[in-house]
Amino acid sequence: MNSPAKLYQADYGTTIIDFSLQYSDRKTLGITVNPDLTVSVTAPTKTSVEEVQTKIENKGRWILKQWEFFESFLPQTPKREYVSGETHNYIGKQYRLKITKARKQDVKLKGRFLHVSIQNPNDRLKIKLLLAQWYRNHALDIFNWRIEQNLDLFQKYKLEFPKLIVRRMEKRWGSCTAEGKVTLNPEIIKAPVKCIDYVIVHELCHLIHHNHSSEFYKLQNKMMPNWEKWKNKLELF
Ligand SMILES: [Zn+2]
Repeated sequence: MNSPAKLYQADYGTTIIDFSLQYSDRKTLGITVNPDLTVSVTAPTKTSVEEVQTKIENKGRWILKQWEFFESFLPQTPKREYVSGETHNYIGKQYRLKITKARKQDVKLKGRFLHVSIQNPNDRLKIKLLLAQWYRNHALDIFNWRIEQNLDLFQKYKLEFPKLIVRRMEKRWGSCTAEGKVTLNPEIIKAPVKCIDYVIVHELCHLIHHNHSSEFYKLQNKMMPNWEKWKNKLELF
């Protein structure tokens, strides 16, 4: 009987490789990169997570090559048009873009709509920039709020409120330095609040364990027992 697969991460240089690990009664360890870019590992029952992480790190170059190969077949995510009627997400909810001509430029949430007032409603680049700015401003408030809430879980570690940086990153939701500086990707505020909490709890755990060791996962499981569910959901955003 195979045990259910669990999610882990390994570090390859600055790249984080997520992988699912499943134990089985096979004798050798197998690493598969799937066409959807997920990495699956099947390992003999006695293998420790650290051993698997080392294997993954040794195979890092090959995994990145596989990713590149499969990436070329993936459908491109739909490009944003920044026109009225288009759907944009904010904290897990969908809002319709409504662009109106106005002398004063402004972005506001009203009911189910995300209103953009702008002098030239056809200036899509400007609308894109205004929206990015709006998301970024809200990200800071939301992150401060969620960090404060989640810090309560870490009371016994006496964590201080980390120095927070909001910055767009190509392939990461968050990161954390050894000095305790946390960087969060403003994109994640489009996802449900629990997904945001997952990223924050993950980075707060890194303030205690600066790697993806089994101690790190033990702590993360304790602080957010169902984190895998929210991580998977976040992947879809
Ligand atoms: Zn991490």
